[in-house]
Amino acid sequence: MTQVARCRVYKFGGASIQDADAIRRLSALLADERERPRALVVSAMGKTTNALEALLAAARRDDQADYRRWLAAIRDDHLAVAEDLFGPDSPVADALEQRLAELDAAHAAYREAPYPFHYDQTVGMGELLSTTLLSAWLNASGIPTRWCDARSLIITDDRHQAAEIDWAATHERIASLAAECDELLLTQGFIGATPGGAMTTLGREGSDFSAAILAEALGAEALTVWKDVPGLFNADPRRFPNARQIRQISYAEALEQTWHGAKVIHPRTLAPLQRAGIPLTVRSFLEPEAPPSTIGPAPGDGDRRPALILRDDQVLLEVSPREAGFIEAGLMAEALAALAEQGLNANLLEMEAQRLRLVVDHKGERLAPLLARLGACGAVTHREGLSLLTVRHPGEALMPALDAGRRALVERSTPATAQRLYPAAECPERWTIPGF
Ligand code: ASP
Ligand code: MG
Repeated sequence: MTQVARCRVYKFGGASIQDADAIRRLSALLADERERPRALVVSAMGKTTNALEALLAAARRDDQADYRRWLAAIRDDHLAVAEDLFGPDSPVADALEQRLAELDAAHAAYREAPYPFHYDQTVGMGELLSTTLLSAWLNASGIPTRWCDARSLIITDDRHQAAEIDWAATHERIASLAAECDELLLTQGFIGATPGGAMTTLGREGSDFSAAILAEALGAEALTVWKDVPGLFNADPRRFPNARQIRQISYAEALEQTWHGAKVIHPRTLAPLQRAGIPLTVRSFLEPEAPPSTIGPAPGDGDRRPALILRDDQVLLEVSPREAGFIEAGLMAEALAALAEQGLNANLLEMEAQRLRLVVDHKGERLAPLLARLGACGAVTHREGLSLLTVRHPGEALMPALDAGRRALVERSTPATAQRLYPAAECPERWTIPGF
């Protein structure tokens, strides 16, 4: 009887391909695996996406010197890795040069275009560069790999920087590619294209989402996201030294935690996986044998243990009716519409008869129009420099420990979730909370 290989998708983030050694480690990891995955989804190398955003900012300001500096830095980074892997003057270096020329031409062509469109035609180039390098390296290392252009697989609308997926078209494209090709598929995270072929992006950190889209379309049995940490934690270990790794967490709980701001997985990633019942496992490329964490249909320790999520840089908005009235449905609807117009969520919402309180991320250029629009609904005050702590499954001891000697500006509690809004100064850089 022939063995039917399990179909798995692997996603590798920027840190796992940040330099030549990391890329060698990646190919060794694949060579060691007992079964090869069906597809790889890969981010831009290291901090390339940030560099591309800085390049774009220089282009928009028309600061030619800064623009040239960033372009040279991105070029040098990639060519240095190509030279380390393939030696001088390789065909891969030529292929990279060609993409860099496309990047330069796109900046010249779209300098006057709307920002989100210009962003998508340029910032997504990081993934095209990284996968060009990686596919050449895998093929040279005896791992036959097919480089696939995500712009012909992930079909989206034209909401640039936050594109919505055309699921039917995307599934059809991916299924027909898989049907005609047996090699390991290697494609870019983060990017897609409109039916007309204009590049789009799925939002920062969107490569996890790309991997989930691919996994669903391929009917995969599992998605593995390879990171530089061994799994998911119940708080950010850099901020909360006594954070612990969790082993298993349900889609629903993972969605709660990512929605409140937990950073490990892009929140949009979960819907396609949940729909198709595909488990997502987070593993460490530095320690592939370390016990991983899995997000799946079944609840686990991550659904019971307290989890802490801290959002810095929050703004508290308070809206009151101008006359001696109360908060009516109309005012409430207007206030939420004002947030939606600025693409902001209420990270906390709390209401009394004469006061509506909303907490939002401080996104520089969006605050002034938001305040103006809210000012048309009622009297508005705002306060910046705040941090919002969300605690899932707080239990009995944790909240008293947190509240001791610390004053919250706003508190909100349900049986499963407690929230505290603090002035940023109340939240230590290394925060050890007794009983956590
Ligand atoms: N390269 C993109 C970013 O850094 C997408 C990703 O890595 O997920 O946001
Ligand atoms: Mg990245």
